[in-house]
Amino acid sequence: MKLSKTFLLTELRQGLGITFRHFFSRKITIYYPEEKTPQSFRFRGLHAQRRDENGEERCVACKLCEAVCPAMAISIDTHQREDGSRRTSRYDIDLTKCIFCGFCQEACPVDAIVETRQFEYHGEKRGDLYMTKPILLEIGDKNEEDIARCLAADAPYR
Ligand code: SF4
Ligand code: SF4
Repeated sequence: MKLSKTFLLTELRQGLGITFRHFFSRKITIYYPEEKTPQSFRFRGLHAQRRDENGEERCVACKLCEAVCPAMAISIDTHQREDGSRRTSRYDIDLTKCIFCGFCQEACPVDAIVETRQFEYHGEKRGDLYMTKPILLEIGDKNEEDIARCLAADAPYR
């Protein structure tokens, strides 16, 4: 059987058949960045830290995201406020280590750390992709509407 396949060039013919089929089919070209392909509400892009409705950061410094991160990309320092609440004094994500698995978002009990659908960013040197807490909060503020919409769309499946 294997020998006949070799002599009859079956696999080569099958491959050429696919080439031939696509040769006459309608070509699809996306003119990025003017045009973009559809994006899932679960797209895992640039990270963000969210605030609650009072403008207070949601993160309660439980460190679950830091513990679950397989790439050890998250670094957190915590402190206690005068009112007794615990917050982060440092919350950094090194995107050069991050593998965008989404575990941090899954682990977070208060939906504070999320991955936005932003994928158009870059760094020219290593430090450019080191996301500190103020940067993450700023990304969250800018994208809150889309983040909330995506979380609501995903809620029935969680
Ligand atoms: S997406 Fe994954 S690798 Fe990246 S910071 Fe979150 S848990 Fe770590
Ligand atoms: S982002 Fe979420 S999981 Fe991470 S420390 Fe803050 S509250 Fe905990």
